[in-house]
Amino acid sequence: MRTGSGAEGALLEVRGLSKHFPVRSGVFSRVTGSVRVVEDVSFSVGRGETFAVVGESGCGKTTAGRTILRLYEPTAGSVVLGGIDLAALRGEELRRARRGMQMVFQNPYGSLNPRMRVGELLAEPLVAHGIAKGAGAAERVADMMGKVGLSADLAGRYPHQFSGGQRQRVAIARALMCSPSLVVADEPVSALDVSIQSQIINLLQDLRAELGLTYVFISHDLNVVRRISDSVGVMYLGHMVERSATGPLFERPLHPYTEALLSAVPSLDPARRKRRIILSGDVPNPASPPPGCVFHPRCPKAMDVCRSVAPAGSEPEPGRFVACHLYQDPPAPVSAPL
Ligand code: SF4
Repeated sequence: MRTGSGAEGALLEVRGLSKHFPVRSGVFSRVTGSVRVVEDVSFSVGRGETFAVVGESGCGKTTAGRTILRLYEPTAGSVVLGGIDLAALRGEELRRARRGMQMVFQNPYGSLNPRMRVGELLAEPLVAHGIAKGAGAAERVADMMGKVGLSADLAGRYPHQFSGGQRQRVAIARALMCSPSLVVADEPVSALDVSIQSQIINLLQDLRAELGLTYVFISHDLNVVRRISDSVGVMYLGHMVERSATGPLFERPLHPYTEALLSAVPSLDPARRKRRIILSGDVPNPASPPPGCVFHPRCPKAMDVCRSVAPAGSEPEPGRFVACHLYQDPPAPVSAPL
């Protein structure tokens, strides 16, 4: 399991990744500030593993996923996939690298061209990358449809002729047509009925085992994350505040924000039920984040130091990383709770 900074042999290494968007105002649309949507995010994922990124809506997890795939240009930091620094690639080199990394979106209907038949949708990436065409492409399409649990006879249908679950299977098949090593799945089941969610999760797990895929799995659904991931990164206001293997994180969260998030997860097992921690206030505006620890206005354990000093990351237990003054080594100066 790789959750730390020593990422020897990892397929994906993300180091100090930031993405800021300019804020423009006035008649001349001058840049007057920036929204720091992703700030200094680091993690690594081993081959064949699933790293989940969790957090409330607007915490920057989707932007982080898109920046990893260079759908957005990073403001700072590096993304190394299979030993290649993606940030350094341009033109044809970047296009080739894109074959090895794909994204599955939340809304399969929005990500599939409604005017193309499913067979054409699946063959398109093969043709675009010069991998196969004609009969060769048709054969690969039929094979991939089988892998995702769809009959090849359905290749002549349009996306609207499929159910929501089937459409997500088509979207997954399209993402896998060029044999990527990395798939970033952005809330891939949250638009589906609960009964279908389970089938798609099982499919993703089967495909991971069969094809040796590595996933970055973005989700706000902690029950799904617990089931599918090997390790987890928790994001708050663009920062990754805790990173750990999945089991220890769910058993004993360290960061006060992770604790609050997990306390809201319903459980049928009375032994696992936790006292619900209700966070006061709203998530601050990322265009003007609070000074010090960005979580301090809502943190039930905040201290004086948290208002002015941003916590550095520390590793209080092997393989567990947390950005909080409670775990800093040497400890933060003792101060009264706010
Ligand atoms: Fe809470 Fe302070 Fe830790 Fe931030 S640094 S999570 S405010 S205790």
